[in-house]
Amino acid sequence: MLEQGTITIHTENIFPIIKKSLYSNHEIFLRELISNAVDAIQKLKMVSRAGEYSGEIGEPEIQISIDKNKKTLSITDNGIGMTADEVKKYINQVAFSSAEEFIRKYKNASEQPIIGHFGLGFYSSFMVAKQVEIDTLSYKEGAQAVHWSCDGSPEFTLKDSSRTTRGTTVTLHLMEEELEYLEPARIKNLVKTYCDFMPVPIKLDGEVLNRQKAPWRESPSNLTKEDYLEFYRYLYPFQEEPILWVHLNTDYPFIINGILYFPKLKPDVDVTKGQIKLFCNQVFVSDHCEEIIPQFLLPMRGVIDSTDIPLNVSRSALQTDRTVRKIGDYIAKKVGDRLKELYRDNREQYINTWKDLGTFVKFGVMNDEKFKKQVEDFIIFRTTAKLPEQSTSETPTTQIQSEEKDVWQQDTNEEQENLKYQYTTLKQYLERNKERHQNRVFYCTDESAQATYVELHKKQGLEVLFMDSFIDTHFINFLEREHTNVKFTRVDSDLDQTLLDKDKAGEIVDPKTNKTRSELIKELFEKALNKPKVNIRTEALKSDNPLGTPPAVVLLPEILRRLREMNALMQQQTAEFPEEHILLINTAHPLIQNLANLSQGSIIQTDGQSPTTELVNMICNHIYDLALMSQKGFDAEGMKAFVERSNQVLTQLTEKATK
Ligand code: ADP
Repeated sequence: MLEQGTITIHTENIFPIIKKSLYSNHEIFLRELISNAVDAIQKLKMVSRAGEYSGEIGEPEIQISIDKNKKTLSITDNGIGMTADEVKKYINQVAFSSAEEFIRKYKNASEQPIIGHFGLGFYSSFMVAKQVEIDTLSYKEGAQAVHWSCDGSPEFTLKDSSRTTRGTTVTLHLMEEELEYLEPARIKNLVKTYCDFMPVPIKLDGEVLNRQKAPWRESPSNLTKEDYLEFYRYLYPFQEEPILWVHLNTDYPFIINGILYFPKLKPDVDVTKGQIKLFCNQVFVSDHCEEIIPQFLLPMRGVIDSTDIPLNVSRSALQTDRTVRKIGDYIAKKVGDRLKELYRDNREQYINTWKDLGTFVKFGVMNDEKFKKQVEDFIIFRTTAKLPEQSTSETPTTQIQSEEKDVWQQDTNEEQENLKYQYTTLKQYLERNKERHQNRVFYCTDESAQATYVELHKKQGLEVLFMDSFIDTHFINFLEREHTNVKFTRVDSDLDQTLLDKDKAGEIVDPKTNKTRSELIKELFEKALNKPKVNIRTEALKSDNPLGTPPAVVLLPEILRRLREMNALMQQQTAEFPEEHILLINTAHPLIQNLANLSQGSIIQTDGQSPTTELVNMICNHIYDLALMSQKGFDAEGMKAFVERSNQVLTQLTEKATK
């Protein structure tokens, strides 16, 4: 048999168009041909299962071979094969008519990026080949093998072939400028990229190139924790382990499978770039899918696979596609459900991973109204509140789950042997402190720097929340907009009235000047520091043991501090410590009282720069430095001065003591 004919297409010669104007990405021809080969193998299994074929199926496989001399690349499958009629129908008519349609549609839109260049099919081989041959033998009994050849013009030849093995070989005679596809390394790479999870072994020189197993197609009950972690490492090598994952699989009202991971978010995360890989039937399409995933989920990683996402449309069309929007909503809902489930069923793990998970949740809540509604009740904060008495450390967290508890303790984990943190929700915090706090939230952004302030609050029974993740500055603003009646104040921004002892502050000491002790102390410090921008305030801090309170603290008013932080953020700098701040002197502290007595004595006895005045000066500066220390580190200059002064103070004190 020999048949010659003209492929029924109306464009005179479509191949130059295919090659030149449609796709910049020639390499996808391989994905298309291998997909066809996989389909052919699956179809054979189907007809066999349906009882329409009783012959051997054999080991399904796809072989790629390269002939550098002939400059050919061929792809062989042992699938269903084609009869002459089928070649005419599927290749000449179907493949090429769809090619024509595709071109008509995209001729003028070639600038529009198309997400997957998908469904190009067989004719995409003409992007790289000047001639394509198909040699095929159908599974059908008594079928005659056929050989089809086409040189890129609409003319083709079809003749009998001597092939005896069932299946199809597609041979590409590569164009001179496409000879890169004769390099085994290039082919291996392409198979790894596009065909890694296709369910049939793909071989080159006897070596299987693809992984085949697509875990997202498995039932979640068949996968262990290690399976999920292993898959993550495979997809994102050399990355930190993910915190949690969600396995998506549904068939209705659309088909979607996938595994999404919550990675640890870093301050430098680029929230506009997605890293979720998109697949269609286990065929790789794209390594990001911003059009499908709701924006707030872009920091997630993993895989989604759906045949319901239209791939040969432009990206903008995709974003407005109804099914795609529904798929996006579905994914968001599933992610929210996963968090809810963990919160409800495994509070221990929830709390243990919250440090990382929280960043993610807060980001989502700030960016998506629906997601916010779904998870807002599970946003927790580390708190200084203690567990209720009955639940001591012997009670594992898992048992402290009943709803009436409003503080949960983190279980000890290996990393933090002795640390047990308590967590609570904002709602519970406000409820618990209704009387004392009057809708105020005291928070701490840096546990070690603000330790003195936290301690002060704790001692007076005020509860402090730790909001120390990089996202919390934004999150506090968000919470304030959400709860307009609640005021957020950082522990070092001001001291609450409950922390002060009003009775102790006003005793009069000097009948001549009628000045209170507080006023004298204020003057003393003003003179000693000589820093007009530092606003000196005197208060008596409430305490049973004044020695346990600091002699002085530096305060940064909330609003001023935030303005500075915002400015710094806009200029992409870190906010420097402002020259303008408050130095609050604790008049109840014995050191301050001694200092006052000392200075009074010195004023009476001598005037001018007596050794005592000098000592008082030094101690004032020293107290200021100590207060400042918890707010900011010293620079070299400051450190030197501090150490020198420390030594002088100590020397003078010892001198006085020995006198
Ligand atoms: P699509 O795969 O999207 O249907 P193609 O243009 O790639 O479109 O292929 C057209 C048809 O040619 C396929 O539907 C299939 O029937 C047939 N075909 C292509 N490649 C093979 C193959 N390796 N084995 C059997 N049939 C094939």
